[in-house]
Amino acid sequence: MNISFDLDSTLIPNGKEFETENRNGIAKLFGIEEMRKGTRELISYLQNQGHEIHIYTTSFRTKRKIRLTLKYYGIKVSRIVNEKENRKVLKSRNINSSKFPPAFDFDLHIDDLKGVGIENERLNFKAIIVEPTDKNWIEKIKSGIKNVG
Ligand SMILES: [Mg+2]
Repeated sequence: MNISFDLDSTLIPNGKEFETENRNGIAKLFGIEEMRKGTRELISYLQNQGHEIHIYTTSFRTKRKIRLTLKYYGIKVSRIVNEKENRKVLKSRNINSSKFPPAFDFDLHIDDLKGVGIENERLNFKAIIVEPTDKNWIEKIKSGIKNVG
């Protein structure tokens, strides 16, 4: 399956919402962002299960910057869609939604925003919503994927 992850408040904290992976001072200096603890393990687990992992964010970070941050933590993803690309594609397809994963061939999207959950019902795409404070977020995603797949 093609699985996409949101960044802000899902994998990258906005403040101190969740525990993060270790990051050294030099990395910080180079603009490497914090990453939710367990992200690397989860993504490599899913990739070993045969899934393709992607990033789908409505932030304007450049793809290069996102890839650099992921690389620092040993994470490799297939495709990165940022807001610049998202807007262009959704506009060209006349889709009135903040996110529409099927436009990028993503079968399942993981996000913290309840609004995405509402859009997923309205527009009929598959999503798993995880709270930033959910300590069992990894289990929730793993079991959610089993139910979808
Ligand atoms: Mg988010």
